[in-house]
Amino acid sequence: MTETESNIRIFATCDIGREALELLRARGYEVEVYDQLEPPPKSLIIEKVRAGIDGLITTLRDPIDREIFEAGKGTLKVVAQNAVGFDNINRADANEYKVPFTNTPEVLTEATAEFALLMLGAVARKLYPSEQLVRENCWGAWHPYLPFLGDEVTGKTVGVIGMGRIGQAFVKKAVGFDVNLLCYDPALTPADFLTGVREEMDLRYRNGFSPGRQTIRMTSFEEALSGSDFVSLHVPLIQEGKFSTFHLINEKTLRMMRPTAYLLNTSRGPVVDEAALAKALKNRVIAGAALDVFEREPLPQDSPLRDPELLDRVRLFHHFASGGRITRLSTDPKRGMAGRCVQSLIDVLEARGNLASLPAIVNKEAFR
Ligand code: NAD
Repeated sequence: MTETESNIRIFATCDIGREALELLRARGYEVEVYDQLEPPPKSLIIEKVRAGIDGLITTLRDPIDREIFEAGKGTLKVVAQNAVGFDNINRADANEYKVPFTNTPEVLTEATAEFALLMLGAVARKLYPSEQLVRENCWGAWHPYLPFLGDEVTGKTVGVIGMGRIGQAFVKKAVGFDVNLLCYDPALTPADFLTGVREEMDLRYRNGFSPGRQTIRMTSFEEALSGSDFVSLHVPLIQEGKFSTFHLINEKTLRMMRPTAYLLNTSRGPVVDEAALAKALKNRVIAGAALDVFEREPLPQDSPLRDPELLDRVRLFHHFASGGRITRLSTDPKRGMAGRCVQSLIDVLEARGNLASLPAIVNKEAFR
């Protein structure tokens, strides 16, 4: 252990995983954890940062902005976010104060994509109403179509909004359901990936695994909405500016969707205008929605999405898409968020040389 490492102090706003935090202690870091279920008040984070910590471990629940960076002026060397999304961190403020921040991409890609696909199945095939029927002893008799039917997934068309890591992983898994895919991304056309998917679709058809030859193509946002039976969101939350995704799904864009279509959101809550969505669901503008993320989390008691009238067509989850055991807790930085988060923190704190070349850092632009 070097002199510097033995003096490094970390504050974690949450217990992101005991074993991973132990890895820091094993290096001689002093680690304090806010060991409560609820996030700490911002004033406490400021107090800890002002006391001179070197590294701050955060989750998506912590607003990290100018106030925090000002408190850590001259001492705070890194913010390590235990999530891939970092919309809670003000990037411009981090850059102004020249504080690098890291996130946990890749390790949660498969878990999040698989959850989106499972949510799709849950809402389309009415898993919750079916279980409810059995549990409440309301399953009168087997009947060809009563008390309700679900919608099949196989052979349908799925719109994928955002073709980054999770969007592509979602596509790879959806191919097994023999769906057609309409993909939209304003900044990315993953040509090799699309070629690979087409080859796999052709192979499935040639081998008789798939009853038809399925297709995938990049398209406009409008067509991805209007041409799909399911629309799955995989975009980052960008609050403002030309590339804003805030309320990307709103009253107008919901009307572009088919009345038989379902919306799936595992991205961030504010990407969807929830009031507009609840209204659209009530008026049958679309058929249903499965949501893992919300404009306010935890979902408020008075949210219109809780309307009992919508119970048969809305599935609600507790920001759980990345919530697999390995994904959340593995100490391996290639497999788990906790491992990736602490490794990124170490990478920055023990970096020698130019920070702009460190892969772990999100806001590299501040160090060029
Ligand atoms: P990514 O950066 O690899 O991909 C995001 C893609 O969205 C990019 O290709 C980008 O060009 C595209 N995009 C940006 N604006 C768009 C728009 N208006 N329309 C369509 N596409 C647009 O990120 P990722 O690793 O795939 O993660 C995506 C998001 O998923 C994260 O930012 C995070 O908010 C969310 N997420 C949620 C959970 C969860 O537990 N629910 C878990 C992981 C990630």
